Amino acid sequence: MPEGPEIRRVSDALNQTIAGRPLTDVWFAFDHLQAYRPRLLGAEVLRIEPRGKALLTHFSSGLTLYSHNQLYGRWVTARPGELPPSARTPRVRLETAAATAVLYSASDIELWPSADIESHPFLQRIGPDVLSDGLDAQTVLARLRQPDFARRRLGALLLDQAFLAGLGNYLRAEILWSARLSPERRPAHLPTEALAALAGAIVDVPRLSYATRGAIEKVQHHDAAFEFHVFKREGDACTRCGTTIRRIADASRPLYFCPVCQA
Ligand SMILES: [Zn+2]
Repeated sequence: MPEGPEIRRVSDALNQTIAGRPLTDVWFAFDHLQAYRPRLLGAEVLRIEPRGKALLTHFSSGLTLYSHNQLYGRWVTARPGELPPSARTPRVRLETAAATAVLYSASDIELWPSADIESHPFLQRIGPDVLSDGLDAQTVLARLRQPDFARRRLGALLLDQAFLAGLGNYLRAEILWSARLSPERRPAHLPTEALAALAGAIVDVPRLSYATRGAIEKVQHHDAAFEFHVFKREGDACTRCGTTIRRIADASRPLYFCPVCQA
């Protein structure tokens, strides 16, 4: 599943492609959504906003499209009138005079009054977006100290969207390596410096990934400033200490770590 940095890249591309122009066509695969078509034709997409692993598409007519891609959903952009050939099933199509954006395969799609969208159950459940502008190390530190989070194992906490939205499996591994922490540690038992290092890594690692990486499938160490130090590198030498990177299962997901740096 794509993580915060990849979701934000998708929203950037959609903002550039379809925001700010009147919608000339709107189509939904689901009848109950298709009924909103008249309210959306001629309206504009004001902006597309990533919230954890969901996207909010805000329309000028007072509606907001909530979409969560889960594993298979994918946005594709094309020229007006084109439906890019795909084995996936189209679910949403938004078209302007300049471009078409098609959402394939996602099943988690809803239209809400924009004024009420914050009461969506998913948005109620998730913590702050890890890449949001207001999120700094102080905020993360305060969150790590909250009793509900402070008692948790880091291996599980860093995947919990209620802690911070947008973290996923590769970010978990790279944050823990960067902060030199074992997934078995718990915030409540960490010395102040270790907790500060963790908060700093939680802020910095996703931002570096967003700023410098392309698709997460391209694990090419030499051509991007964002380098995986441990993720999918089991058997390689740790870039910091030379120890062989290991892979274990943690919270039912593969976790990669350096047994010496992260003892
Ligand atoms: Zn190491």
